[in-house]
Amino acid sequence: MTVVAIDGPAGAGKSTVARTVAAELGFTYLDSGAMYRCVALAALERDASPAAIAPALTISLEDRVLLDGRDVTRAIRAPAVSEGASRAAADPVVREAMVAEQRRLLAHGDWVAEGRDIGTIVAPEAEVKVFLTANPAERARRRAAELGGDEATVLAEQTIRDERDSTRDHAPLAPAPGAVMLDTTGLSLEQTVARVVAMVVALRR
Ligand code: C5P
Repeated sequence: MTVVAIDGPAGAGKSTVARTVAAELGFTYLDSGAMYRCVALAALERDASPAAIAPALTISLEDRVLLDGRDVTRAIRAPAVSEGASRAAADPVVREAMVAEQRRLLAHGDWVAEGRDIGTIVAPEAEVKVFLTANPAERARRRAAELGGDEATVLAEQTIRDERDSTRDHAPLAPAPGAVMLDTTGLSLEQTVARVVAMVVALRR
């Protein structure tokens, strides 16, 4: 059983890197941010507080993201949901429910898990921990290219989320002790993936 923890700020390339590393190694990919996004979406739709509804939601993260059985793969990527997720994720009640579910999943099998607190809180015992970064302008450029939209707006929204994620009281975004810092600013996806895969291969020798 091996867990690869990939943490870092929005737009550092975590999702693509984690997904590709998982595919290359035959591991299962866990997108923990999708869970916070589901909480935010449900809270927006029901006009409820995230903490009140989070513990009772059923979230499934197979090929598609299912929220109480409904396919929300696209809906959770809307800007209002990104903003709501970052707010919901600052609530300790929400975090407790999500972390419990993430730990339950990671207990069996080989995983590449991606988020903000995988190496620090969810799986501190992960064999490989990577903190993925890139400079803010580069991160905004990638996000804008991926989701559409204006780079300056993406950068402004991203700065607010980064600030909130890094300064919140509960599980603030920070590199885990022992995490390898990987700045992807000048690296291609292939180069980044190769570095993470090499860490896992080295571990197994
Ligand atoms: O990674 P993604 O942008 O999908 O995450 C959405 C939001 O969920 C982040 O801005 C962050 O506030 C929160 N999050 C978190 N802990 C995680 C994953 C995501 O706080 N492990």
